[in-house]
Amino acid sequence: MEDGVIFKKIINNKISANIVYQDHKVTAFTDIKPKAPVHILIVPNCFIASSNEINKNNKYILAHMFYIAVKIAKKEKISQTGYKIIINCNKNGGQEINYLHMHLLGGEKLKFLY
Ligand code: 5GP
Repeated sequence: MEDGVIFKKIINNKISANIVYQDHKVTAFTDIKPKAPVHILIVPNCFIASSNEINKNNKYILAHMFYIAVKIAKKEKISQTGYKIIINCNKNGGQEINYLHMHLLGGEKLKFLY
């Protein structure tokens, strides 16, 4: 699994990415290899390696990530046609980047589980 430092650099504007939303809790940016016409990653600004590291102190971040994903879906005009929100965890879950992130996918009929 790749080091999550790349996402930290995107959050801190140290490397370029198409950031579509940012606040003091989360950052959302376009996936570098989009698997759908709309493919946006929503990440917490504070490092969390994977969903395994969600605990009672940081669990609020998932609700905020979900809320922002839905807001972006509406802005991207895919909320009526539909979308998938996916979090991959570790090897069998297909997680490639060691930094918790939510995928927002839409813009066409999605034919894959991801
Ligand atoms: P995972 O497989 O870990 O759930 O998803 C990681 C996602 O991050 C992949 O869809 C991959 O295309 C995306 N990604 C990897 N490196 C970069 C990068 O440097 N910039 C952006 N915007 N996306 C990246």
